Amino acid sequence: MTAPHTGGCRCGAVRFEASVEPHHISYCHCGDCRRASGAPVSAFVGFMTDQIALDGKALKRFENGPVTRTFCGVCGSPIAYTDGRLAGHIYFTLGSMDMPAYFKPTHHAHVREQLPFLHMPDDLPRHLRTSVTRPDGQRPDGTQS
Ligand SMILES: [Zn+2]
Ligand SMILES: [Zn+2]
Repeated sequence: MTAPHTGGCRCGAVRFEASVEPHHISYCHCGDCRRASGAPVSAFVGFMTDQIALDGKALKRFENGPVTRTFCGVCGSPIAYTDGRLAGHIYFTLGSMDMPAYFKPTHHAHVREQLPFLHMPDDLPRHLRTSVTRPDGQRPDGTQS
């Protein structure tokens, strides 16, 4: 399967398309993703924002610090997140892709927060915290934390 890759929400009010292959596919075990998804582990497919088209009329957003999560305002499906420290990137929820089996994660992020009963016996790299380097301690407005 090759690009374009498409996806959307449960009810169909939100649709998106990416014109290229993703640059990033990973699991995330952090508590913030867990709250946002309701699932014990999340997975994301990363693209550059200028390589995707998003029909966003039904989208709603929730901002938490530098991270903005979007979801369908009709059916509530989580769609994506962006991080102010990673300008130009968007990470779609793997489950919102139309062909989710195509997007095999290549690593685990935030395994320090992984639930103790969750066992995923693969040989993928595991990162205690983030798998994507952010400018160290820098807030989106450029001040230091
Ligand atoms: Zn929807
Ligand atoms: Zn996370």
